[in-house]
Amino acid sequence: IRIASQMPPGRRAEKPSLPETAPPSFMSTFSILRKGSVDATCGLIITLLSVVDVALLLVLSLSQTVASLFKGVTRSSSDLLLSRPSVVVVGGSFSGLWAQRALSDSYDVTLVDFKDYFEYTPGVLRLFVQPSWLSRLSGPLPRRRNKLVVGEVVAVHPTEIALRTADGEEAQIPFDYLLLGCGSSYAAAPVKASPREPDLPSRRRSWEEAAARLARASSVLIAGGGPVAVELAAEVLDAYPSVSVTLVTSGTSLCSGLPAAVGEATARWLELRGAALHYSSRVESVRPDSVTLVGGQVLSADIVYPCMGAPPASAPLEGSLASQLDERRRLRLTPQLQPAEQNGSPASGWSRVFGMGDVASLPAGELQLGHTAELNAHVAAENMRRSAAGRPLEEYPRGAVGCERSPRVFCVSLGPHDGVVAFNGLVLSGAVAAVTKRILEWTKVAACAERPVGVAFWKFGDAASAWLSMTVLPPPPPAPHEPKVGPALRRRPKHNVGDVLKWLE
Ligand SMILES: Cc1cc2nc3c(=O)[nH]c(=O)nc-3n(C[C@H](O)[C@H](O)[C@H](O)COP(=O)(O)OP(=O)(O)OC[C@H]3O[C@@H](n4cnc5c(N)ncnc54)[C@H](O)[C@@H]3O)c2cc1C
Repeated sequence: IRIASQMPPGRRAEKPSLPETAPPSFMSTFSILRKGSVDATCGLIITLLSVVDVALLLVLSLSQTVASLFKGVTRSSSDLLLSRPSVVVVGGSFSGLWAQRALSDSYDVTLVDFKDYFEYTPGVLRLFVQPSWLSRLSGPLPRRRNKLVVGEVVAVHPTEIALRTADGEEAQIPFDYLLLGCGSSYAAAPVKASPREPDLPSRRRSWEEAAARLARASSVLIAGGGPVAVELAAEVLDAYPSVSVTLVTSGTSLCSGLPAAVGEATARWLELRGAALHYSSRVESVRPDSVTLVGGQVLSADIVYPCMGAPPASAPLEGSLASQLDERRRLRLTPQLQPAEQNGSPASGWSRVFGMGDVASLPAGELQLGHTAELNAHVAAENMRRSAAGRPLEEYPRGAVGCERSPRVFCVSLGPHDGVVAFNGLVLSGAVAAVTKRILEWTKVAACAERPVGVAFWKFGDAASAWLSMTVLPPPPPAPHEPKVGPALRRRPKHNVGDVLKWLE
């Protein structure tokens, strides 16, 4: 790191800085053993899951063949003529694909995305150092039980969406119901795909270019101190131990939105490998090779990665839903996840539209995570069904998890063989987190491709996490800095057996 003017207060550990009591030979042997055991454990679990997947596929295809023969005999011609409500789902990622899986058997579902593949965002930081890993993190978007339209949504109206295809053609898709899961973007390219990467070959090229650029760098500066900044710093240090890595954050700790133990464990890991951590340093502007702090200090590096949050991808909503966007341009929602006015009342004319995931501003003020996006989708899809059947709608998050606060589940990886995993207040670090993250990654990619083992794993995982959260491991109370409690949370939290039974039912 070249420092153009005076450094802000910060810390820089000597590099390398392994514990003095441990001779390097012992440490390196231990580290090799640990890496080997993480890889072997993951390999074994993934092989077992693959075998179960093949077995489930065989059973399912057999039962489907039998069922279709049976249906062919019993279904009357009037059944075949019944038209099903059309549902458009925008966004082929966590929230959109959850909704697509839940609704495709009963409705005429059209999935719309500007790319034709799913990419597992929580794993993409590895691609900066190992672009070939993309094949493990991605897969084609499903089209077996639904239609798939590849195009960028440019406008949303109460009964149709307008989109532009990669060839520049414009089209409209009418709908009975719309589920908006268009998510967020990210300043550090190419973390989130853009419409210029509509297929996997173009996306692979972007990652190869990003990896080649990093491979040439001798210093890296990461603006931000959240989980993404930490994970990126860890990937760089793990792959290129001699590269100088600096993190600049306005906070007084890393990962300040998560339990304090996560920030402490990740800071220790990074400092041990020589990262320079600068706290209480507010960034004013970011350039490709420098960052200017409030107060005028300029820090330079070969590459600067801005990791200071994920702004919502709400551009298509700016026309017709502009007054329903909050000050951060997220879509305001009612507890039933329909577009809301500033005072929280449902926006008139938009009752057949539901929002979910990173594009939404949730009344509960929860963390914008993949898991949260899926819980939103759970309630949005259920409310779409209820609306079509004329039944009362459910509130978020009770409709998804059976109580007033959803579980906080996340995993911060520290390179491929280490990390921190947390469930509500419980925090575990080390190899167990690395194995967990790899298994979550594999099963989520499988679930998004509608492979039975992935779908079953996450059905069981979601049910188990909701049950644990309602009983033995409730989520911590909201932090003082979190937004005011919304309508969905006003009732007193209840964690009792009745809730669990009602939710299971
Ligand atoms: C680097 C990184 C690491 C993360 N790690 C974790 C983690 O470990 N655990 C965790 O739970 N969360 C993690 N998150 C957060 C998580 O990835 C997001 O919360 C989650 O992806 C949100 O899902 P979503 O469905 O709302 O939208 P997104 O994942 O943002 O997907 C939106 C989809 O909509 C499509 N789209 C957007 N605009 C349009 C348009 N106009 N027209 C057509 N299609 C459009 C996009 O192509 C995309 O497929 C991480 C995020 C980042 C950036």
